[in-house]
Amino acid sequence: MNVVGAPPTLHSPKEPPTLNRVTFWGTRGSIPVPGESTRQFGGNTACVEIEANGKSLILDAGTGIRTLGNALAHREEPEVDLVLSHTHWDHIQGLPFFAPLYQSGRTLRIWGPRQDQAPLATILGNQMDPSVFPVPISEVSASVHVMEIDTERFTTGGFGIEAYPLRHPGRTLGFRVSCPPEGKTVAYVTDNELVGAHYGTPPEWRDGLVHFLQGVDVLIHDAMYLPDHVGQRVGWGHSSPRQAVDLAAEAGCHRLVLFHHDPDHDDTTVARLADDSRQYAGRLGVSLTIDAAAEGWSVPLNSGV
Ligand SMILES: [Zn+2]
Ligand SMILES: [Zn+2]
Repeated sequence: MNVVGAPPTLHSPKEPPTLNRVTFWGTRGSIPVPGESTRQFGGNTACVEIEANGKSLILDAGTGIRTLGNALAHREEPEVDLVLSHTHWDHIQGLPFFAPLYQSGRTLRIWGPRQDQAPLATILGNQMDPSVFPVPISEVSASVHVMEIDTERFTTGGFGIEAYPLRHPGRTLGFRVSCPPEGKTVAYVTDNELVGAHYGTPPEWRDGLVHFLQGVDVLIHDAMYLPDHVGQRVGWGHSSPRQAVDLAAEAGCHRLVLFHHDPDHDDTTVARLADDSRQYAGRLGVSLTIDAAAEGWSVPLNSGV
């Protein structure tokens, strides 16, 4: 794993976790890009963990989930919750390599939207079909439960989760997660085209999204494209960092984390985009902490995020 600064502390089984935080295990969009040029911000695809009150909630199962799974395999959490934004490869491809799947006594609950073409369970089963992977999902040691969700609110592991439909090819959901015990809020909104194609969403979609995100402590948002690229990539389902800043400012979010980095962007480019975003927010007169997501980096949720 590419690590920036101190690696996340892994909990020993005898020491219950007390830190509430968001940890980035995979930050990249589309395809993993390991190597020297992505060492700082990471090469693995989307996977984020929220820890609160001794429980973990996993958002997406890109290739970053493999390292998280190796850590979870040593934690005493019999039940694991994984929430999927959608089922494009970069959000599910790490699941077959998630170690808790192969531990008996574990329960894995997978929540996510169905697609027009197929139920969620079928899509996840197909990527572990014997034609492409040696172990079918029906034969793993863990007890796996696949639950289809849409925009209804649900609670699991003490986390309250609300969903909002995003502008992206295929059914894609953004999540607002309320974390116990204090109700700190984290929003995970990736693979979202803020300006451009509408994907059948109504005209009031933008206002609804701003309302949905109102006042969240940490907004993790798609920031894949260079400002020059968004106009050329209408209908591709992504946003620029400045567009994410506009949204965070409008919704009164406290902290913005730029996410789903373009696989063609090296560390220098990602850092430059983050700097540009800070300057842009400054010109808008917005008080907003902005960072680019980096693999291995954690944002504390306990205080002053
Ligand atoms: Zn993606
Ligand atoms: Zn996608």
